[in-house]
Amino acid sequence: MKDKKGWRELPIGTIITEPGSAREFKTGDWRSQRPVWDANKCSSCLICFIYCPDNSIKIGDDSKMTGVDLDYCKGCGICANECPKKAIQMEIEKR
Ligand code: SF4
Ligand code: SF4
Repeated sequence: MKDKKGWRELPIGTIITEPGSAREFKTGDWRSQRPVWDANKCSSCLICFIYCPDNSIKIGDDSKMTGVDLDYCKGCGICANECPKKAIQMEIEKR
């Protein structure tokens, strides 16, 4: 109990102490469903990229979709809903 910090020593909440720190928090752990991408159906229209609220759609140097960054994807399913080619299916996350 003695080695616990008192309230005066705790960092103040909601303050970002350094830029780009969100990259360190792999929030994909929260996901209950995962998007499964079918490269054969995908036309790389990038509509999913525009809609993804988490910037989790990966794009290669040739401006084509290369997959989903599951370290950050929250499994919201928006990409699957918006894809005109039905190239993304949501599946229950297995852990
Ligand atoms: S919306 Fe569908 S077809 Fe378009 S890039 Fe994304 S997965 Fe591919
Ligand atoms: S499921 Fe949601 S967070 Fe994950 S890639 Fe699709 S739109 Fe982005």
